[in-house]
Amino acid sequence: MSKTIAINAGSSSLKWKLYNMPEEEVLASGIVERIGLNDSIFTIKYNDGEKYNQVVDIDNHEVAVEMLLELLTELNIIEDFNEITGVGHRVVAGGEIFKDSALVTDEVIDQIESLSEFAPLHNPANATGIRVFKKILPHITSVAVFDTSFHQTMPKVNYLYSIPLEYYEKHNARKYGAHGTSHKYVAQRTAEILDKPIEELKIITCHLGNGASITAVDGGKSVDTSMGFTPLSGVTMGTRSGDIDPSLLPFLMEKERIETIDDMIYILNNESGLKGLSGISNDMRDLEDAEDSNERAELSLRIFEDRVRKYIGSYAATMNGVDAIVFTAGIGENALETRQNIIDGLTFLGASVDEEKNNVRGKERIISNDDSEVKVLIVPTDEEIMIARDVIKFSDQ
Ligand code: ADP
Repeated sequence: MSKTIAINAGSSSLKWKLYNMPEEEVLASGIVERIGLNDSIFTIKYNDGEKYNQVVDIDNHEVAVEMLLELLTELNIIEDFNEITGVGHRVVAGGEIFKDSALVTDEVIDQIESLSEFAPLHNPANATGIRVFKKILPHITSVAVFDTSFHQTMPKVNYLYSIPLEYYEKHNARKYGAHGTSHKYVAQRTAEILDKPIEELKIITCHLGNGASITAVDGGKSVDTSMGFTPLSGVTMGTRSGDIDPSLLPFLMEKERIETIDDMIYILNNESGLKGLSGISNDMRDLEDAEDSNERAELSLRIFEDRVRKYIGSYAATMNGVDAIVFTAGIGENALETRQNIIDGLTFLGASVDEEKNNVRGKERIISNDDSEVKVLIVPTDEEIMIARDVIKFSDQ
């Protein structure tokens, strides 16, 4: 039995989940927030419901990991940190270098850092997480798992933008997508639930959280996805605009006296989407609460549903058919009305949702009517277990 830890390191946070593998038993999970700021918050969930909370100043990721390992022993979650034999790290951008997960070497860390221009907020933090674990636990199997690698199977027809081809050839300017680990997990689970070989299925996976993306999975492979060069494109999101006409940028910069393109992109990333449309909140629950009394909240919900529906229709065309539509992540797993409204507009595809089966949050379930030609499912995502499984794959080699 080996204990494996899945890590998601952000610039000021460290999320983790500890497993007994290959049993896939979750021993504990937690998050360290506000690393490098005052009053960092350490939260651990363990023993099926026990919770540990501490507010303490944590200067950097190295201190966070040292504290974490000490606490795991203090709380008797493990006896000794040598029991941890593997660590898997989520990395946001893998560019065209990483078509699959990779065993961490110094060269791999350098490559992850060299890809920082594709994910300036994330890759440097991911690399820091990897280095810190390598320093503290140098002998364990360490694996990097990339958000983009599942989408590396996209054909050129779908990943190229219609701009001068030289820009791709010279600068790798193309679509990379994101949320790949989640799309892969829910597509594989869908095949298992439907008891069909994934090679025979055309699946559209809808990862609808604060960030949202839709993927066309044909025969188990990602063939197109709604996020692009960065996670800004695609459907309307919590605070991100999704697709817009790029000519709007100089027009708005002039009218609104927005000085730099970075400021404009910041607005598209942080002040747009459901937040910008509603003027209330980026959170779906707030909009659902306000929907009946606030026209902007109502409008933003309808726009969100429309954009998701349009991508589903477009990906049915990309694959020339669809067998299953799958909802996952915060909104996909929990927002009943959103799911219902999206599918209600897709009767032309032969998809329909059973209102009673749809009346559920966060549970794995088929929610389509028995006579629906397209199966509709909720599959709660689990990116961490995919990371832990990849660590085991490398440990076994
Ligand atoms: P991310 O990981 O991208 O930050 P999540 O996957 O956690 O996002 O999803 C967050 C979104 O899920 C928010 O818009 C939130 O309102 C929505 N959500 C969570 N629970 C519910 C619920 N019970 N009903 C409706 N929406 C929900």
